[in-house]
Amino acid sequence: MNNDTICALATANGVGALGIIRVSGNEALPVVQKSFPGKKLEKQKSHTLHYGYFMDGEESIDEVMLSIFLAPKSFTTENSVEIAFHGSPHIGKRILETLIKNGARMAKAGEFTLRAFINGRIDLSQAEAIADVIASENEASRKVAISQLKGGITNEISVLRTDLLNFVSLIELELDFAEEDVEFADRSALNLLLDKIESKLHSLIDSFQYGNAIKNGTAVAIIGKPNAGKSTLLNALLKEERAIVSNIAGTTRDTIEEVLHIKGHAFRLIDTAGLRETMDEIEAIGVKKAREKVANANVLIYLADAGTEDFSEDIEMIRSLVREDLKLIICATKIDEVFPAQHEKAESIFRDAIPQEFDFIKISAVENQNIQDLKNELSSYVEQLKSQENNVVITNQRHYEALRKSMEAVHKVKEAITFRISTELLAYELRNALEYLGEISGEVTNDEVLGNIFSKFCIGK
Ligand code: GDP
Repeated sequence: MNNDTICALATANGVGALGIIRVSGNEALPVVQKSFPGKKLEKQKSHTLHYGYFMDGEESIDEVMLSIFLAPKSFTTENSVEIAFHGSPHIGKRILETLIKNGARMAKAGEFTLRAFINGRIDLSQAEAIADVIASENEASRKVAISQLKGGITNEISVLRTDLLNFVSLIELELDFAEEDVEFADRSALNLLLDKIESKLHSLIDSFQYGNAIKNGTAVAIIGKPNAGKSTLLNALLKEERAIVSNIAGTTRDTIEEVLHIKGHAFRLIDTAGLRETMDEIEAIGVKKAREKVANANVLIYLADAGTEDFSEDIEMIRSLVREDLKLIICATKIDEVFPAQHEKAESIFRDAIPQEFDFIKISAVENQNIQDLKNELSSYVEQLKSQENNVVITNQRHYEALRKSMEAVHKVKEAITFRISTELLAYELRNALEYLGEISGEVTNDEVLGNIFSKFCIGK
């Protein structure tokens, strides 16, 4: 393991009461010692604080406090020093320059956490949880990240993995005695274990929808014919909300999304800027464009003017957009303009024509009628995603994919047993399942995956 000495600013880069620079590696103490002549650092105990001046040669850079953490009782498990200085970005820069002159090098993004992982202090999902804890913006996302930091998902997986590993050993033993046609591994017991794993994977995979809603917000598309009342509804929804216009990279290219908060959950209203720009356009929104918008959505709010004579175009549009994993809410709009009998009729027309489950809400955005019902419906959609039996929630795309691949591998193992496929193939499929399960905690990994994860961290983490 390469534990050359690295340094980086651990606090935000800007003016603050204090700033902290982290130094970690074999030479952490001698590197800092060169700038801290007042005390023999090698002689100090772990977890002690030391007051003095940080020097560049003869020049005092700042009055600092050093915290010393000796291996293995540090974040990275290496000798580490944290230097607390007066929080001026200029002083931070001078201290880093001096440390580099003294023999340290600048840490790469996530390198401290990478070392904590490589040195075995935390597993990969915990390393990822550190990034999530730092990124958490509300109570829901903080709680989920902390539970993962405590090893939530790894605990769930590693028990299953150990049980599966036992079977792999037995199956591989059978391979060693291939000529004798013996079965060491009880196939029905293996099947029972696979069922157990399958149901655990199921509930973890299911929890991702909720996890994603917590972490990234629920994506909502508002669709309807021109003049259906989309922008008026949008304004009504955002009325009490300070409209947060954010550029969320990585979803759809450069889409501007507005975010609505209801009962602590975030709802991202997809492509609402486009909605505002095109609100004067007379041409009907094409199915293709609507599909693109709905493709990334979890919820579709379809608006139809309650006063419409013929809903066949709306019905056709809805039919072409619905998916099994899309929550559908149909709103009859402008109910202040029509008699109740008319919007009652509208509801029954939609109920007769659309087989999928949906909520029907009659609203007037202008008179603020039933807008709260719509908000309640959105919020209860997120609440019902919460899995009852599972308190570990998956929020990480990488974990989700590894779980899905594990599930596929488990299915293949079950098939191999059912169709009495060769023991070699069975062993191969089992190994596959083990590998995917191991990817989550990082028991099985490769440099590319690690590079991908840690490069997203900031420097100093
Ligand atoms: P969009 O093209 O779907 O975005 O529709 P707009 O929100 O621009 O609304 C079209 C027209 O309907 C505008 O003149 C709105 O003032 C009007 N409108 C929208 N919602 C309501 C409503 O709830 N009640 C009434 N009376 N008019 C509405």
